[in-house]
Amino acid sequence: MRPFAYLSAETPKSAIAASTADTQFLAGGTTLIDLMKLEVMQPERLIDINPLHARYGRIERTAEGLRLGALVRMAEAADDPVLRGEYPVLAQALNFAASPQLRNMATLGGNVLQRTRCNYFRDPSYRACNKREPGSGCAAIAGLNRKHAVLGVSERCIATYAGDFAQALIALDASVDVTGPKGERRLRFDQLHRLPAESPHLETTLAQGELITAFSVPGGPWTRRSLYLKIRDRESFAFALASAAVALDVENGEVNDARIGLGGVATVPWRAREAEQILKGKVLTQATAQAAAEAAFARAQSRAHNAYKPELGRRTLVRALMTAAALEI
Ligand code: SF4
Repeated sequence: MRPFAYLSAETPKSAIAASTADTQFLAGGTTLIDLMKLEVMQPERLIDINPLHARYGRIERTAEGLRLGALVRMAEAADDPVLRGEYPVLAQALNFAASPQLRNMATLGGNVLQRTRCNYFRDPSYRACNKREPGSGCAAIAGLNRKHAVLGVSERCIATYAGDFAQALIALDASVDVTGPKGERRLRFDQLHRLPAESPHLETTLAQGELITAFSVPGGPWTRRSLYLKIRDRESFAFALASAAVALDVENGEVNDARIGLGGVATVPWRAREAEQILKGKVLTQATAQAAAEAAFARAQSRAHNAYKPELGRRTLVRALMTAAALEI
C-alpha cells in the first residue's frame, strides 16, 4: 500500500472542503482498503467520515416511508425490526451480502458504491482494463468472463455490479440524498450509477466532493410482499451469479403493481421495467412470470463463458416472483 494522508472529518462542511480529486471518503473501508492494498486505488488522502455518524447514522420512519442514514452499518439495518417486517427485501439483500464481519463494518452508503469484482480490474498486472485505466482495453471480453454481465454491457466493459442492497433500493424506487460543494440535492436511486458505455471508469453521477448522506424509501402496498433471492456458487460469502429483488402489490390474485431489481447479471443495479409492465393487471401464474422473465432478458448479450446467465437470471426471477406471490402477509 502506498503512503497517504489521513484526515478525520469534524463536520460535513469540513469533509467536503478538504476533498480534492485525489481524495476518498473513508467509512467502513471494506472495499477501499482492499483496493488500496492491491494498488488499484491510490488516493493521496482519506477523509474519515465516521465522526459524522450522529448525523448520518440513523434509521427513521418518515411520513413517506423510511429514511436510512448512509453511515448505518449493514448489520444494523439488516437486523432492524421495521426493515425485517415491513421492507423484507431490504433486510434480506443486506443479510445475504458478504460475511458477518464485513456487515458489521460496511456502511449503507459505501455498500452501494462498491467497485466491481472483475479480476482484471483488481489485478494491475493486467494492463487492459478501461475501468482502471481509460483507453487501455478490456481483458475480460476475450478472457475469462463467467461472472461478467449480460445486461447494460458495452464494448468497453462488461463488469458486473457486485452489490445486493442496491437492487432492493432500485426496486423500491428509493432516492439518494447527497451533500457537496454546491449544497444538498436528492436524486432517484436509478440515477446514481452510470452504464459503462464509452467511459467505464465513470461509475456514478456523484460530483467530486459529494457525499451520500441518506436513502429514502417510499412505503406502499408492495413493500411487505417483497423478497430478495440470490443465487451464488456457495451459500455463504459469495457474490451473486444472478439475483432478483421483487416487491408485489397483489389483490385477489391480480398484480396491481410489481417492482423488480436484478443483480449479478448487469453492469449497474438493474430495474426490469419491461418485466414489470407484463405483470401489471395480470394474474401471477408460472406462465406470466415466465413471460416477464423473457422480457427482462430480451436484450441480454452473453460472451464465451457467461452464456448460462440469461437462463439462470430468468429462472431466478420466476422463482422470486412465485415465492413472493405465495407469501402469507
Ligand atoms: Fe476492466 Fe470492465 Fe473489462 Fe473488467 S470488464 S477488464 S473492469 S474494462
